[in-house]
Amino acid sequence: MRWGLVGASTIAAEHVIGALRAAGQQVSALHSGNPAHARDYAAAQGIAAVHDRLEDLLADPGIGAVYISSTNEKHRDQALAAVAAGKHVLCEKPLAMTVAEAAGMVRAAEAAGLVFATNHHLRCSGSHRAVRDLIRAGRIGRVLSLRLFHAVHLPPHLRGWRINDAGAGGGVIPDITVHDADVARFLLGEDPVAVVAQMGASGMGQGVEDSAMSVWTMPSGAMVQSHESFTHPFAGSGFEVHGAEGSIFARGVMTQLPLGEVELVTASGRAAVPFPAHNLYVQGITDFLSAVAGGGQPAATGRDGVASLAVALAVREAARTGVRQLVDYGRSA
Ligand code: NDP
Repeated sequence: MRWGLVGASTIAAEHVIGALRAAGQQVSALHSGNPAHARDYAAAQGIAAVHDRLEDLLADPGIGAVYISSTNEKHRDQALAAVAAGKHVLCEKPLAMTVAEAAGMVRAAEAAGLVFATNHHLRCSGSHRAVRDLIRAGRIGRVLSLRLFHAVHLPPHLRGWRINDAGAGGGVIPDITVHDADVARFLLGEDPVAVVAQMGASGMGQGVEDSAMSVWTMPSGAMVQSHESFTHPFAGSGFEVHGAEGSIFARGVMTQLPLGEVELVTASGRAAVPFPAHNLYVQGITDFLSAVAGGGQPAATGRDGVASLAVALAVREAARTGVRQLVDYGRSA
C-alpha cells in the first residue's frame, strides 16, 4: 500500500517511516504545515511528494492510508479529512484533545468502513504480550494490583511543545499517562472506573504538568498505581503485576525498543520469562495491514485510543480539582 504522512515529526523519522518500509509499504507523500521544514524532511527521508495542503495529499487516489503524527491538537481535523477522502488511518496518541473529539473520529471511520488505529506501540511489544498471556493463563491467579513506572528524562530535542504548549496538547499526562492507561487496559483486559491523582510542574517547561501520580480503580477490584514524568534521569521504567498466586516484574519495558526483562515469581520460585524481540512499530503496522486485508483488528483500535485518552483526561481532571473522577468514556454519545 502507498502511505501519506501527515506531520513531519520526530517519531516518524526515528521509528515509523522505517517500520512502514520494513513492512513492505511505500511512503509516498508528506503533508506538513511548514513548507521549508517539509522539503528538508522529505529529502532526508526519501519521500517523493510534498504537499503544503492536506487536501492535495488526500486527493491522490493511489494513497491508501495515512499516518498522522502532527501535534495533538491537529489530529482530529486531519483524521476527519482523511476519512472523508476514504483513507485508512493510523493516528498517533493521544487521538485528540477531548474524548468527544476522539470518539467522533472513530465513529466517522467506522461509518465509512475504514480501518482506524491508534499508535499505542507498547501493546505491540513481545514483553507486554508475554505478560498479558501469563495473566490470561492464570499464572498469577486473581490480579490484585498493577504498578506502572514510567518516569523518563525527556531528551532535549523533544523539549518543545510537549513541555511548553498546552494548546498543542503538551504535558506528561497526554504524552505518557495515556500510554500507561493503554498498557493497563491491555494487560488487565478491563477499563478503569475511577481515578485519584496529583500532578506537578518542576520548571522544565511552562504551563503544563511534567509529572503525575495516580491510582485507578478497576471493575474487578484490582488497583492500579501509575507514575509518569519527564524529569527523572535514572528512574528506569517498567511495571509489576501482583496476583493472589504470583507476581510479574517487568523492568525496562516501557520503551520504543524491544528491550527489558520479565520475571515470574510464584510459590515454585523465580523464573525469567522469554519474549520475542520484534520491532514494536513494525508489529503495529503488520497488525494494521491485516485489518485492512480483513483479517481482524489493529493492535490498538480507535476505540482503544478513545478509552485510553479518557483515562488520561480523568487523571488530569482529578489532579486539577483534587476530586476523585469517574472515567467518562463518552460511550453514551
Ligand atoms: P515533533 O515535535 O517532532 O513533531 C510534531 C510536529 O511539529 C510536526 O508534525 C511538525 O509540524 C512540527 N515540527 C517538528 N519539527 C519541526 C521543525 N524542525 N520545523 C518546523 N516544524 C517542525 O513531535 P513528535 O514526533 O515528538 O510527536 C508527534 C506525535 O507523535 C504526537 O502526537 C506524539 O504524542 C506522538 N508520539 C508517539 C510516540 C509513540 O511511540 N507512539 C512517540 C513520540 C511521539 P507539521 O505537522 O506541520 O509537519
